[in-house]
Amino acid sequence: MTVPLLDLKAQLAPLRDEIMTAVTEVIDSTTYIMGPKVEVLERQVAEYCGVRHAIGVSSGTDALLLALMAVDVGPGDVVLTTPYTFFATMGSILRLGARPLFVDIDPVSYNMDPRQAEVVLTANPEAAAKLKAIMPVHLYGQCADMAALAQLAARYGVPVIEDAAQAIGAVCPLDEKGKTVWQRAGSMGTAGCFSFFPSKNLGGIGDGGMIVTNDSALAEKMRILRVHGSAPKYYHRLIGGNFRLDPIQAVVLGIKLPHLPAWHQARRDNAARYQRLFTETGLPARGAVTLPRAVYAAAAHQGGGADHHIYNQFVIRARNRDGLIKHLHGSGIGAEIYYPVPLHQQECVAHLGYHRLSFPEAERAARETLALPIYPELTGAMQQEVVAAIAAYYRDR
Ligand SMILES: *Cc1c(COP(=O)(O)O)cnc(C)c1O
Repeated sequence: MTVPLLDLKAQLAPLRDEIMTAVTEVIDSTTYIMGPKVEVLERQVAEYCGVRHAIGVSSGTDALLLALMAVDVGPGDVVLTTPYTFFATMGSILRLGARPLFVDIDPVSYNMDPRQAEVVLTANPEAAAKLKAIMPVHLYGQCADMAALAQLAARYGVPVIEDAAQAIGAVCPLDEKGKTVWQRAGSMGTAGCFSFFPSKNLGGIGDGGMIVTNDSALAEKMRILRVHGSAPKYYHRLIGGNFRLDPIQAVVLGIKLPHLPAWHQARRDNAARYQRLFTETGLPARGAVTLPRAVYAAAAHQGGGADHHIYNQFVIRARNRDGLIKHLHGSGIGAEIYYPVPLHQQECVAHLGYHRLSFPEAERAARETLALPIYPELTGAMQQEVVAAIAAYYRDR
């Protein structure tokens, strides 16, 4: 049996008729840019995330770019972020002429380590003086330590722009007068950015993204920046861009959104099954593989935090990772490395000297990790096949 890393056909099948009808309606309406369908999705997403405003945009990348533009990040500014994420996180900062100040990751959650953030800011007073924003990433579907990062941001008086591209719906525990409250990704910072790239938990039939915020003035500014800074049309107050979400994506996403809680749950069930299956093989005990840990699981157990991890990816560490992935591909099993090269080692920033920087945990994660299939429609039999193939690889090793 072959097991793909992701099977979008399995998700499409039960929704196909509804999607075809809705897309046909958009085509027949001839409203192809923005319009009421986009507004409906914006209200749906705002409500789901527990925020006042949602702004539909052209991609997750453009969501990050637009959010940074809206908080006036520009040449000479510094944005605190992680070197272990998708390129767009750093790309959006650099495209505005600003510079990323990297903070190494926590090796368990793979998210920005707030203690390291303090160390980095203290060690780089010049960069700290130019700090304009903090951009944490909620990697693989689990929120960064937002309680600690919010304190840091308050101390420096800078906004937090959440890269929640992989974490729509994920909740994070925050302390409110000694009581734990769970808040959705994107709703905790100044603004939160989502991607509807097809492989995300909520994926469109093409590119799309969304920014959420509780700040009404900022929302208004982002709506204006989204359409070349014009308000009204042809009167340009700001230099924006074309960052619009299209209504075909909006209707498809609107059909999928109500299914998101069940899909998140199915991913968590699959993660729990992997935990059982791997434990039975003895591989984690032997140190051949290290399974992912949901860092908020214990707090979630006490109630309210069902979506503490939404497993956009199920990422393990593996001994001889490159040998294992080759073996899996040879056995017809999908697996991928997210991400093989940390951002400070990317070729395009070599001229900035970032390759001389050292982030041991990000570099180790890039060397040791791989993602296994975790999509909601994955069956128990398929998971057994994945685990059996991994066990076979380590049998004589
Ligand atoms: C997917 C992703 C993005 C970019 O989203 P696009 O919609 O592909 O532009 C940004 N950041 C992270 C962490 C992502 O996973």
